[in-house]
Amino acid sequence: MQSTRDELEPSVRIRDLKKDRVNFVLENVDLAFANSLRRVMMADLPTIAIDLVEIQANTTVLPDEFIAHRLGMVPLVSTNCDEGMRDNRDCTCMAACQYCSIQLKLDVACHNNTTMDITSNHLEVSSYHDYDDVVEGEAGDEPTKRVEFFGHPVGKSDPDVAPILICKIRKGQELKLRCIAKKGIAKEHAKWSPCSAVSFEYDPHNKLRHTTYWFETDERGEWPLGENASEEEPPRDDEAFDFNATPGKFYFEVETDGSLGPQEVVMQGLAALQSKLATIVLGLKKTEPNMVPGERGDEAPPADAWASGAGWGEGGAGGGGGNASGWGNASPGRGGAATSAWGSGGGWSSPTQPAAAGWNV
Ligand SMILES: [Zn+2]
Repeated sequence: MQSTRDELEPSVRIRDLKKDRVNFVLENVDLAFANSLRRVMMADLPTIAIDLVEIQANTTVLPDEFIAHRLGMVPLVSTNCDEGMRDNRDCTCMAACQYCSIQLKLDVACHNNTTMDITSNHLEVSSYHDYDDVVEGEAGDEPTKRVEFFGHPVGKSDPDVAPILICKIRKGQELKLRCIAKKGIAKEHAKWSPCSAVSFEYDPHNKLRHTTYWFETDERGEWPLGENASEEEPPRDDEAFDFNATPGKFYFEVETDGSLGPQEVVMQGLAALQSKLATIVLGLKKTEPNMVPGERGDEAPPADAWASGAGWGEGGAGGGGGNASGWGNASPGRGGAATSAWGSGGGWSSPTQPAAAGWNV
């Protein structure tokens, strides 16, 4: 089973694609790879979110901090924000400018006897041109790479999408504020995550016996099978347990909050993973001149381990040496996580490395 899968290319089959979610089957990859993709999609993709709130008037029942937190969690349209927005920390402006941020304003007061809802639809994107004192960073082409409604609250332009409630006010109360939205990733704060949920299932029939089913009389009859179970052959009654089997088919469900589309999330997730791996390869290449037999440091893996194509999972469940352990540990009893996932084509190899060279360093 294992050798067969290693020879196959990874494949993706989309089962369902909607505006805010995608369901797909990823095959012929290692569990470690599937989990890496899940984690990258959740925490490593840049989006924009409100990061700074300047409250000018707040006579609502909610304190300023409460409202600022609610504003931060409002998803904003972030399509192509990788190119459309500069990182605020890399910008040379004084505080925030049109290249590294989006400014939103909210100014609502209630003059009626009925309770009024302040929602995300009251947030208006406004230009920095109203301010004379904004010291802008170095000029760039970021604003030209933004889509229509970039930085607007998700669903504001769609009458079918209910807005997000921020606060309720009564007659005589008002809320006036200015927000600065910046680019960031969810590793820093969950408000920058483009996903509301990313999950995957594997081994729906529990052939690998990762769990023990609790039952009274009939194990099969009392265990409800999910919809993914129809994708795989159920185990025969007389089938022996294959203790060498490893998972290779993953049923993904990716749900976004609307800031990025599901396709963009998956594609950018793969690209982010690719660049992370390329960075590791580049880092390892730098250590190459020092890798003299008998003199190499503990942190550098043996040269023959990479050249032989054994890959990252050399150590398997036992934990590989040095940097390799991080990739190999998630797949007990099986090595070669990254090699099987990417094949030897090495399409993502570093610019200085020939594509066919794959993992050899
Ligand atoms: Zn700036």
